[in-house]
Amino acid sequence: MAQFVEIKLIPRSPLVLSQSRNNQMLSSLEYVSGSTLRGAFAALYQSVNGMDGDFQKIFSASNRFPYLFLSQSGQTAFPFPKTAYSCKRYNGFETEVDKNGRNHHGVVDLLFLEALKGTCHRGKESLSFQNYFDSSYRCSVCHEDRKPLQGYFLENRQVKLFKGQRTHVGIDRWSGTARPQILYFLEFVQLPDQSSDYCLRGVGRWEEKAFEKLKELEHYPLFLGKSRTRGYGECSWQLQIQNPPSLDAFEQTLESFSKEAAEYCKVQKERWIFSLTVQTPTILVDAFLRYTAQEKEILRWLGLEAAELLYSYSELQPVWGWNMAHGMPKEEEWAIAPSSVYLCSARRSKENLKRLHHIHHQGIGLRQEEGFGQVWISHSFHVQYAVKKEENNG
Ligand SMILES: [Zn+2]
Ligand SMILES: [Zn+2]
Repeated sequence: MAQFVEIKLIPRSPLVLSQSRNNQMLSSLEYVSGSTLRGAFAALYQSVNGMDGDFQKIFSASNRFPYLFLSQSGQTAFPFPKTAYSCKRYNGFETEVDKNGRNHHGVVDLLFLEALKGTCHRGKESLSFQNYFDSSYRCSVCHEDRKPLQGYFLENRQVKLFKGQRTHVGIDRWSGTARPQILYFLEFVQLPDQSSDYCLRGVGRWEEKAFEKLKELEHYPLFLGKSRTRGYGECSWQLQIQNPPSLDAFEQTLESFSKEAAEYCKVQKERWIFSLTVQTPTILVDAFLRYTAQEKEILRWLGLEAAELLYSYSELQPVWGWNMAHGMPKEEEWAIAPSSVYLCSARRSKENLKRLHHIHHQGIGLRQEEGFGQVWISHSFHVQYAVKKEENNG
């Protein structure tokens, strides 16, 4: 039986998290990718147990190694969706205060508004909405333009890892002496505050055997990222089995999101309206194995009865990986980028409920074992920060 496993990492030395192939300038990512995590566990496992009979089973496609994001008190950072906007002068949540004591001008989400724009008819009605549409792209406090928000949020604040840079002198491989003319710039990350309860966290799904065998290694440090030989990347870590997620709780979330979305977007309430917000790169292919973000392919991968796409804002990005079997980098693939967002509707049915619950907790698309395809169904962000239709009506 596969179980959901919470993985928590606490870096004990700075991490260099980079997927760049240019080794002269390594800039660090804001997360630990699933394939980085899997590689680190595989290296630790081998160093303790050697290549025993369980190795292939543990690191095969049946176990999902998730992406890890900054986390505090059980809440995990999520990338701002592409529909999240804020004032270009003071971007951030109203509750956030800058160093001069000024409040930021607030965060809005334009997903429902953009969907409404798509559904309302041309003519008189659309003219009366035009004010909302235009004014929603301006700050309601100072009337400057709003621009898309980037980065991550945790509840109602923006969060990021602490970033620093170091320069290293290259070593001549032939003579073993320093070559000052070759400099390596390393960007490293650390938890933003060492004393609080921050960690890097994700939830994977593993067979019992994998959990047992890896849990045995918990007292060894895990080394991950680049430049491990220079003392970067040492982490302590913890595994914990999670309770199976509740279908009832998911249904309530789906219902309340759907109700709000239907009212806002003026669409019929008989169907479920749900959002799909991409957390990690999501690899979808069409029948000819071509990478895709096309409407009909998204719907095919969702695998729901009578589903429709109401609105989408997505882009593709390249992804890489490591082929464990061949010990080689994988070919570049194309994935739907994190922060991409879709608003869909589907028939209310038990089957659709189960399918959406599955997607929410287990992901969608290819290479899920490396943490690709983690998505959030009906994220409360879209409801909580939906731009008020009346907000700028003057
Ligand atoms: Zn403003
Ligand atoms: Zn659930």
